[in-house]
Amino acid sequence: MNTYHHSTEADVAEAIVSQLQARGLRRTAALRNLIREMVAHPAPGAIAHWAGLPSLRELNSVTLYRLMMKLEQADVVRGVHLGERAQCFQLIQPGPQPDYLVCTNCGDLQPVEAPAELRQMEQQLARQSGWQGVRHELEFFGLCPDCTAPHTEDQVHSTAR
Ligand SMILES: [Zn+2]
Repeated sequence: MNTYHHSTEADVAEAIVSQLQARGLRRTAALRNLIREMVAHPAPGAIAHWAGLPSLRELNSVTLYRLMMKLEQADVVRGVHLGERAQCFQLIQPGPQPDYLVCTNCGDLQPVEAPAELRQMEQQLARQSGWQGVRHELEFFGLCPDCTAPHTEDQVHSTAR
């Protein structure tokens, strides 16, 4: 139970929008809807995924993409590369960002936490190189339990390439 704060998704979204507005972004309906959707759906999604959601359907995908780029520059959203898929985007959550286990058959995603050594390595790299904001992206591929469970009714179609 979270006794620490009682923010609803709408409050969280509102706080992010206000923060962005303070940094010069226009408080448009598109911005509010996108932030709300990204708070409600924390998993990474490609532009096509976000563009398909009911509250964003009226936006054209170029507008949506530009907005996403602004959010990425503002460090509110991060781009996630998942194998050969189109680049995905997700809201940056507080704390360490998850890496993903990706099912090569159905595309299912499972967040995994990278070992602490990796974070130490980021810090070490930053110290040695003088670079700032050093981060990693790591993906693991495999077949999820749904895709390997024996099916009695229909056959599993393997689309893995
Ligand atoms: Zn699967």
